[in-house]
Amino acid sequence: MSILSRSCAGRLRAAGRAVIPCLWRGKYFSSGKNTEENSPVTPMLRHLMYKIKSAGPITVAEYMKEVLTNPVQGYYIYRDMLGEKGDFITSPEISQIFGELLGIWFISEWIATGKSSTFQLVELGPGRGTLTGDILRVFSQLGSVLKNCDISIHLVEVSQRLSEIQALKLTEEKFPLERNAGSPVYMKGVTKSGIPISWYRCLQDVPKGYSFYLAHEFFDVLPVHKFQKTPQGWREIFIDIDPQISDKLRFVLAPCTTPAEVFIQHDEARDHVEVCPDAGVIIQELAQRIALTGGAALIADYGHDGTKTDTFRGFCGHKLHDVLIAPGTADLTADVDFSFLRRMAQGKVASLGPIKQQMFLKNMGIDVRLKVLLDNSDEASMREHLLQSYDILMNPKKMGERFNFFALLPHERLCGKRQVNSCQSKPSPSPIAGFGELAWR
Ligand code: SAH
Repeated sequence: MSILSRSCAGRLRAAGRAVIPCLWRGKYFSSGKNTEENSPVTPMLRHLMYKIKSAGPITVAEYMKEVLTNPVQGYYIYRDMLGEKGDFITSPEISQIFGELLGIWFISEWIATGKSSTFQLVELGPGRGTLTGDILRVFSQLGSVLKNCDISIHLVEVSQRLSEIQALKLTEEKFPLERNAGSPVYMKGVTKSGIPISWYRCLQDVPKGYSFYLAHEFFDVLPVHKFQKTPQGWREIFIDIDPQISDKLRFVLAPCTTPAEVFIQHDEARDHVEVCPDAGVIIQELAQRIALTGGAALIADYGHDGTKTDTFRGFCGHKLHDVLIAPGTADLTADVDFSFLRRMAQGKVASLGPIKQQMFLKNMGIDVRLKVLLDNSDEASMREHLLQSYDILMNPKKMGERFNFFALLPHERLCGKRQVNSCQSKPSPSPIAGFGELAWR
């Protein structure tokens, strides 16, 4: 399959993306089944064993956090794990159409809420910067619509390596970046289309103000606590050193209750649950900001609505990987519990979804966009690539039903401007694109 360079992706051109992946992270895998015989002693394993020997078994959340984002050896910190040569592939890396449709979603929300004179686009966990790049191309193409609006881009990224890749993709080399490792804004510059762009390590450091927030395959890498129902009540699963095999870790059950149990619902019917306090903190921050200054958050990820149990799994080289083997060399992830995200918004904002990716993209007009790209591609290989990538995004057996879209919006957006006692007498607001059919006004 031929790959077109991104720089020659013009207005209606199709840009080649990665070759079709063998596996994407949305695939379900029950942890611990794929035990490999060789278990190399990685620097991360040595670090974790030292930690456990000195302070006792660690929670799964602490394990995930150390393995993924430890500032010295964390999996995400110094490598590019995305794409064909990496460990997994994501929708924006598969097709340019994905990011283009999300760009249209933000513009449609901006129009529906009165075309504010300024907005921030904030992406959490931007990977290679491909999604923001595709959105920015849509912003440029719709320049006449956005011409009186001051836009700025804000990327929340912990990975030094990925932030460099994002900067390379999104900014012009001839305009050097300002760097300040000690500052909450650790990098700053201007995008290729002349928009200010800044990098932060956490959402709390992003300036408040009318913003559109985007998180694609971000929530699934946040650390989860795992709990098992036992005759004595909920017991948390910890990670300990296996006394039988040297240099090997194993799961153990805590003998008594642990603090993260407060995140489990009193009427929880499942016998195994995963809870993600970090996701709760981020959702609360998003909800507060949106309630205060307007905007919206669009969250896309694989997950469930409070129904699944054991989803903690690892990926290495596009293959499932035992989560306890060779830590630091594989991605770790758990399905996002959208019912938990909704609960954490605490009614401060309205939530929509989760809705299946297939439905969301269909509502956003993916078929029309595909047709335009096909009509404008003269290479047969490019047309084949477009059709194959469409199939991966939309096929219910591939990403179409595995991935979901979820949005947070100000209450006013769903029922018109709030009135003292009711919202019924206001003119009906325009539908939210993606969650219903896109309607340009
Ligand atoms: N959104 C991208 C990449 C998904 S991979 C895509 O869909 O292609 C997860 C991304 O989140 C990476 O960029 C990783 O470095 C970043 N990340 C992981 N943990 C993070 C954290 N705690 N805070 C900020 N970014 C994080």
